[in-house]
Amino acid sequence: MIELKSVSKTYRVGSITTEAIRGIDLHVRKGEIFGVIGHSGAGKSTLLRCVNLLERPTTGSVIVGDTDLTRLSGRQLQQHRRRIGIIFQHFNLLSTATVRDNIAFPLKLAKTPRAEMKARVDELIGLVGLEGHGDKYPSQLSGGQKQRVGIARALANRPEVLLCDEATSALDPQTTDSILSLLLGINEKLGLTIMLITHEMHVIRTICDRVAVIDGGEIVEMGDVIDVFLHP
Ligand code: ADP
Ligand code: ADP
Repeated sequence: MIELKSVSKTYRVGSITTEAIRGIDLHVRKGEIFGVIGHSGAGKSTLLRCVNLLERPTTGSVIVGDTDLTRLSGRQLQQHRRRIGIIFQHFNLLSTATVRDNIAFPLKLAKTPRAEMKARVDELIGLVGLEGHGDKYPSQLSGGQKQRVGIARALANRPEVLLCDEATSALDPQTTDSILSLLLGINEKLGLTIMLITHEMHVIRTICDRVAVIDGGEIVEMGDVIDVFLHP
């Protein structure tokens, strides 16, 4: 479902260059939950952002479904990005918009007809368990509820892939577990492929099928979670 081939990313800021990731090869299978774990600065964010081309890889190719995203023009890329949802550590909600309007935002961008948009937002609110909160603003919600809005917004256009950028790192342990079980439920119910990055082993152990360990911009270990972390 997601294939990265020899992906590298070098940042240049003035005369300073940082090779954030190098020679990344990985394959995330359709319907699995794939985790990438590593310390701060290891290259996790860069790797995840290369999957939907929020960052353009310096070299290598990124194939989602059967499309090589690195070969698309800007306009084509915009279309293909709808197939990839993303959620963030700090939720990135519009603070001046209600829950309903935050969730509807990508549907508006996709020019979804009004009636269809309303029905879809209702369905998404039910899916993430936010019934009764649709007219609230983000400031009136708990962290866990904000991330539920983030998840609903990411799923609005029925993507095949969901990317999670430290999605539970700002949440307490109990809320983390409620969000992880929501993600697992969505993965099972919708057959959605999930790729996540985290620095928390707990997240990997709780929901991931396979894991890659990244260190210094390179994958140093990869395999089934059971083999990599659960066996001595
Ligand atoms: P992680 O998500 O594992 O903390 P990052 O991908 O954020 O790692 O960062 C990897 C390396 O790339 C770090 O050395 C970081 O400082 C550098 N880096 C990340 N983003 C940028 C950027 N936009 N410009 C320059 N350097 C960056
Ligand atoms: P996270 O904790 O989510 O990895 P960071 O604090 O590492 O976030 O980075 C926040 C933002 O700053 C990101 O967009 C990242 O690309 C950018 N960034 C990280 N390191 C650098 C850097 N050395 N120079 C410029 N931008 C950076």
